[in-house]
Amino acid sequence: MPMDGTTLPPSMRHARSVSPLVCFSHLRWNSVFQRPQQIMSRFAQSRDVYFFEEPMRGEGAARLDIVTCAQTGVRVTTPMLPEGAPEGALRMLLDRLLQQIGPASAWYYTPLARAFSGHVRWLAVAFDCMDELSAFRFAPEELKRLEPVLMQAADVVFTGGASLHAARAHRHRNIHCFPSGVDLAHFMQARGDMAQPADQKALPRPVLGYFGVIDERLDMALLAQMAALRPDWHFAMLGPVAKLTPEELPQAANIHWLGPKDYRDLPSYLAHWDVALMPFARNEATRFISPTKAPEYLAGGRPVVSTGIADVMQRFAGIEAVAIADDAEGFVAAAARAMAGVPFDGVDDLLATMSWDSIQDSMAALLEKAESRSRIAAPALRTRPAPMADYLVVGAGFAGAVMAERLATAGQRVVVVDRRAHIGGNAFDEHDKAGLLVHRYGPHIFHTNSDDVLAYLSRFTAWRPYEHRVLASVSAGLVPMPINRTTLNRVFGCDLRTDAAAQAFLDQLASPVSPIVSARDFVVSAVGEELYEMFFRGYTLKQWGLDPRALDKSVTARVPTRVTDDDRYFLDKHQCMPRAGYTRMFENMLDHPNITVLLGTDHAQIPAQTYGHTVFTGPIDAWYGYRYGALPYRSLVFEHETLPVEFAQPVATVNYPDARTPSTRCTEFKRITGQVHRKTSLCREYPSDEGEPYYPVPAPENQVLYKKYEALADQDTAVTFLGRLGTYRYMNMDQVVGQALATARRMTAHLVSEAAE
Ligand code: FAD
Ligand code: UDP
Repeated sequence: MPMDGTTLPPSMRHARSVSPLVCFSHLRWNSVFQRPQQIMSRFAQSRDVYFFEEPMRGEGAARLDIVTCAQTGVRVTTPMLPEGAPEGALRMLLDRLLQQIGPASAWYYTPLARAFSGHVRWLAVAFDCMDELSAFRFAPEELKRLEPVLMQAADVVFTGGASLHAARAHRHRNIHCFPSGVDLAHFMQARGDMAQPADQKALPRPVLGYFGVIDERLDMALLAQMAALRPDWHFAMLGPVAKLTPEELPQAANIHWLGPKDYRDLPSYLAHWDVALMPFARNEATRFISPTKAPEYLAGGRPVVSTGIADVMQRFAGIEAVAIADDAEGFVAAAARAMAGVPFDGVDDLLATMSWDSIQDSMAALLEKAESRSRIAAPALRTRPAPMADYLVVGAGFAGAVMAERLATAGQRVVVVDRRAHIGGNAFDEHDKAGLLVHRYGPHIFHTNSDDVLAYLSRFTAWRPYEHRVLASVSAGLVPMPINRTTLNRVFGCDLRTDAAAQAFLDQLASPVSPIVSARDFVVSAVGEELYEMFFRGYTLKQWGLDPRALDKSVTARVPTRVTDDDRYFLDKHQCMPRAGYTRMFENMLDHPNITVLLGTDHAQIPAQTYGHTVFTGPIDAWYGYRYGALPYRSLVFEHETLPVEFAQPVATVNYPDARTPSTRCTEFKRITGQVHRKTSLCREYPSDEGEPYYPVPAPENQVLYKKYEALADQDTAVTFLGRLGTYRYMNMDQVVGQALATARRMTAHLVSEAAE
């Protein structure tokens, strides 16, 4: 049934009281991979499930085709995109679907789907990480980038096996291992009498079989050698061939490529095998696999011979019906033993623990827990009674907190809302599980040349002196960043002893550009191509997703080169950290009888015209409903980790300027906070287009677009925009404080003069 977004049959609207589930997959609903089908068909018994497939290219306008699967009730949702459909077409189709079905949760089998679904406010987000997809042949580069993005967004993560769980465990707080299950009733048919399909019946016995996708994960050389060692044995290979060329499939009289089979027919093939095979190659693509076919083979009563796949060995340890062999001779010997008869002791008890029902039950319970948490933390958009006040301040970060404090101190009643569950904005810090003080949104180092800003903040916190140091990891090792005399000596193996010698050296390297416009111009004019490539190009490409030629010079001007051996990252007059952390400092700022703080509250939840004036510190384009188009923001994924060592790196931050390392930098918080602890917590940053807006992107065309919004703002007397997002400027904390103080002075001037009159 085609859907153009305006009509949805009544039966499909909120058919159930539980929220719908939208499942994103890189597979078709009827693919041979069982897991998505098995899990989603069970979910469909209690809620509406939309299985969002890979788009298909079609004729006519972009649309969603929704076909309800007769056996399971799952709504198979296929985006049909005409050739040359605009980039946002998928996002638009998804938005229309959500308008029809209301608040929903998302379930991902592929991180790639985040690209068009990351903007949605899902009730809960689950990621069922079945495989290390990025290690598969022809895996898109985007997978590597988007998986951490999805991990960060997910409320709950499942892994398809123990090895994958071990590899991902440190990346998520709510991650659970669920190796795939088995449809016992289906495969146990193979233990009884079943007619053998004609294509396999033609083969002489013994028959050694395999079913599943035939791709780079199979060890074709191993299969060819087995076939050569035992020409009298016949190898029945069932399944679709993927990603391989015909030449990659070994040909022999006793190897039979029988092609893809319907899931329903598998038991009738399995019933007539003498041995079931899992001849997996041992490579990157199979390191984390947990083959679903292993319990299926066993349910069918067939002995199994497999290569030493970690999850197979772990899951079937002690089961004699599963033999492990690593070369053709070993496989042949193990298969011969299996044909002679092996005990099946323990098999059925183990299989009884692997039902899809129990797996889906546990997954559903975890999803529901996440959904109920999200309902408490961020109730679905609804208006709530608003306390009386003169001002509404949206955002409890530096801009919002300073404004609220100043207005409150001037006698105004202020309501502060923030959609996050905490104050502090991006500067929020907290104690992690190990008790270490960490910055949830990446390292925040306070530095300023302004005596006024320091004096103002000092009313709310004491300070600990701290000077930030950064090393860059390059081929010469870990060297100071910004580039200084020591960096030059290490990189070029020279012995520059004075500032003048370093300057003369740099003058030789530099390629002056005039006028200096871009972020690249700024660097090559000072240090030349080689150092630019080594320290700036890759880092900037990663951080911004743009070539430095496309970015304003102010970006790289933040880290100017020096000829001294001063290795501090900042040279500001004041460099220090709030002694008890940023969050405590914000608590003190907002602790005022005239201030009410509502957390977990989006601005949209506040009824319009409740307050005389609004100070908005969120994205200005969002305020105006993206009237002129969305302003680009760059986001980050923060990967936090605690290690059982006292210190993990020599300085607070190590930068990774090469384009290949996906993260830009890694920060060790203890070096910043001075906390004494036997463990240490680190944070790696992975830049991303998608996610919370952290950075306005300083590029000329973005300024042009911002100016259009600014012109609207200039006409608007009911709202004042402030902060990094409100004024679309790449500002440090002290600059935001300075901006807010100046704005507050202007806004409260009449109060002071009124009071004086
Ligand atoms: P934010 O801190 O972003 O606060 C805005 C708040 O508004 C957010 O909490 C958001 O949830 C809320 N909000 C937005 N829209 C809505 C809405 N519709 N309804 C309700 N609430 C809403 N600066 C330094 O000086 N030194 C550093 O070392 C440093 N390191 C940084 C590292 C990283 C990774 C990042 C991202 C920034 C860093 N900064 C640093 C910059 C610093 O974070 C900002 O200057 C500062 O946080 C900006 O404060 P703000 O109030 O403008 O914005
Ligand atoms: N930069 C770089 N290599 C580095 C450090 C910084 O190319 O090792 C560039 C990069 O474009 C970055 C900009 O300089 O975005 C500003 O760096 P800064 O450390 O000031 O960024 P912040 O994280 O504070 O925004």
